[in-house]
Amino acid sequence: MKNPEPHFETACVHAGREPDPVSGGVNPPIQLSTTFTRAADGSYPSGYTYSRGGNPNRSQLETCLAALEGGATAMAFASGMAAVGAVLQALKPDDHVVCTQDAYHGTLRILREVMTPWRLKVTYADASDNDALKRAVTPGTRLVWVETPSNPLLRITDLSAAAEIAHKAGAVAVCDNTFATPMLQRPLEHGMDLVMHSTTKYLGGHSDVLGGAIVCREAGALAERIRFLQSTTGAVPSPFDCWLLLRGASTMHLRVRAQCENAMALARHLEKHPGVESVFYPGLASHPGHALAARQMRAFGAVLSFTLRGGEAAAMKTAANVKLFTRATSLGGVESLIEHRASVEGPESKTPRSLLRISAGVEHAADLTHDLDQALGLT
Ligand code: PLP
Repeated sequence: MKNPEPHFETACVHAGREPDPVSGGVNPPIQLSTTFTRAADGSYPSGYTYSRGGNPNRSQLETCLAALEGGATAMAFASGMAAVGAVLQALKPDDHVVCTQDAYHGTLRILREVMTPWRLKVTYADASDNDALKRAVTPGTRLVWVETPSNPLLRITDLSAAAEIAHKAGAVAVCDNTFATPMLQRPLEHGMDLVMHSTTKYLGGHSDVLGGAIVCREAGALAERIRFLQSTTGAVPSPFDCWLLLRGASTMHLRVRAQCENAMALARHLEKHPGVESVFYPGLASHPGHALAARQMRAFGAVLSFTLRGGEAAAMKTAANVKLFTRATSLGGVESLIEHRASVEGPESKTPRSLLRISAGVEHAADLTHDLDQALGLT
């Protein structure tokens, strides 16, 4: 009888992980060698040559990432931004890119300040609006970049529609799946060609390792080009970082489930608070992307944001008053974080100045709501 395809939770624990054949250790060893032995005939019996090009820990992580996203192949990078950079470097001068207007601010910055001077042409559009996306695409469009849920308003893009719009123009469709994680959303199944991750977030899960990844639906010329850029430009993760990320992947399904439950509890709680103006969380029926998110995602994610009636001063004061939440940027770790997003994004930011963003951790929801109540009560 053919073995059934493992469930996602099983893949988290087993994909890319084999006991060490030398020691029998249950966990893979960390292979620190930068260079690998050649046989007398000049071949490389292990398949590895030099660790910028490949290393066993990176191969294990890439196998895991490809399995979790349902892709043909994956490339791991030293950071999410290195992964974004590799995709953009696969383009040519004068190629046209359509990018969602509320992409991660680092993605907007690399497009504006690195790739535009290299003659990439970029149009920004609200990707949560299919018509706006259609209008932005031209016959010269080579890449359509979406991010869903987006940052920090958690807008939802219809992945199947975006992929279709991109493909009609002959463009590659990419989704930054960092906020959703492959547990909640599998963009390749909706027709996306590439998935990008900041593995720094939920894959790592403990705010202690930086990483990025690209997962490709097909193992064709584009995948080969990205792999070539990975080793040629050299922004690769260390063996230890790959080991930490593989370990992180093994518990991701447990953490993300708990984090989503906490995010929902926080969103519902904040919605009722008199000091809160609006709550942005796709799990709330009041969110404009709720119905689409319910169709496209397995749960609604663990990031939410809210604006305060008292404006920026109230937002800063609430952030200053928290005792259990940690005031810090980033997301995806086991500890709950809160941040004044506009001041992190810098002068180009269009984020409302009264907005605070939360990354829900795995603490008890009642402790988190209590902390927010006391912090809001002091404003
Ligand atoms: N994409 C998203 C949605 C992010 O939140 C981030 C980082 O916060 C990145 C990309 C960039 O990833 P990294 O910080 O790992 O370079």
